[in-house]
Amino acid sequence: MNLPLNRKRPVAELKELRALTGDANGAQRVAFTPVWLKAREFLRQKTEGLPLEIHNDAAGNTWFTLRGASEKSLLIGGHMDSVPDGGWLDGCLNVLAGVEILRRINTQYSGKPPVTVRLVDWCDEEGARFGKSLFGSSACSGNLDMNEARGLVDKQGIKLPDALKNVGIDFERVKESGKELKNAAAYLELHIEQGPVLLDLGLPLGAVLGTFGVERHAITFHGQAAHSGSTPMNRRKDAFLAAAKMSPEIYQIAARSGNGVCTIGSCLTKPGIVTSVVEECRITLDQRHLDPAKLATMLAEAKSASEKFAREGNVKVSWERLWQIASRPFNDELIALCDDAIRETCGQSHRLPSGPLHDAAEVASAGVPTVMMFVQSLHGISHNKIEDTKEEHLELCVTAFDKLAEKAMQWIARG
Ligand SMILES: [Zn+2]
Repeated sequence: MNLPLNRKRPVAELKELRALTGDANGAQRVAFTPVWLKAREFLRQKTEGLPLEIHNDAAGNTWFTLRGASEKSLLIGGHMDSVPDGGWLDGCLNVLAGVEILRRINTQYSGKPPVTVRLVDWCDEEGARFGKSLFGSSACSGNLDMNEARGLVDKQGIKLPDALKNVGIDFERVKESGKELKNAAAYLELHIEQGPVLLDLGLPLGAVLGTFGVERHAITFHGQAAHSGSTPMNRRKDAFLAAAKMSPEIYQIAARSGNGVCTIGSCLTKPGIVTSVVEECRITLDQRHLDPAKLATMLAEAKSASEKFAREGNVKVSWERLWQIASRPFNDELIALCDDAIRETCGQSHRLPSGPLHDAAEVASAGVPTVMMFVQSLHGISHNKIEDTKEEHLELCVTAFDKLAEKAMQWIARG
């Protein structure tokens, strides 16, 4: 039997890329740096010999297009950039698996698949240098906040528009990249899970339901500073006591929500000395859920709990929203195809939401039917040189993702 897909080849290429662009501390493919340009050049070399049209769009995303019988396009995406000292799989696994799929489709359909197939290497997914992730995909989706982005500065004081100019991108025109989505009929993204869910279930692959909506708030409790020796316990207005009660509470709130998560990531006390009752305590709360109604409930429950604890402690509480983003549910039919592809490859699938944001969330928000496939992460760790996935699982994900691409292509052709 002729099997044009070589599931081992992307793994070998990932190792090659690691040797070329990593060092003892991990991957160094930070966007807009010479190493990133080297990684992108490596990617272009890997597509040589395929009848692809290749161009960079106005936001610096690279598109590799295999023209099909129909203009309707299947998009496969990933990102070659990494965080500093990053892992060897995050982002580039998706891209190199995509290259292998292009090779298979090109061979199987003698250069003319039923629909157009396009691989995209998004520009600066990680936002490692300017602190804002999903640059290229949010420019393409139209969500990029131009005023905010115009003012972004790196640690050396270089502005984003100037860094972009250095790599040939005109900042004021980046949203013109949106025209790339014109004939997009489906978007697929493979990614390492970056968490422990599939590892704990003992499953190699999962179908992703969407990316979490996020509510991020600062909660400040206002009490009264008082001498730690002379103030009886029953006379205190202890801002920390009220804040501390939030800690076990958010675990209850998350548990009631189903599969939401809540995190208190920071706690600041004033005056913050060992001999004073806390006058002011500011904590941050990060809440995430796939279901917008459940996210709203989690937020409302946290608010009412904070008010209750404030009343109990005779202190006051105020809330300030730091950031929010809506959840981005993926396409039901594509999720089902993803499940099928996984089951055909390794017997069992699992559906899970994504905590981290991905370029796929941007594409979904632009109205393109989208799904992601996750492959198990060892240690549940990413953005770290210890990020890893078993080689047999990497090979499985290439096979399953290829099956999904074929199913999605047929789905587009039918539609
Ligand atoms: Zn990534």
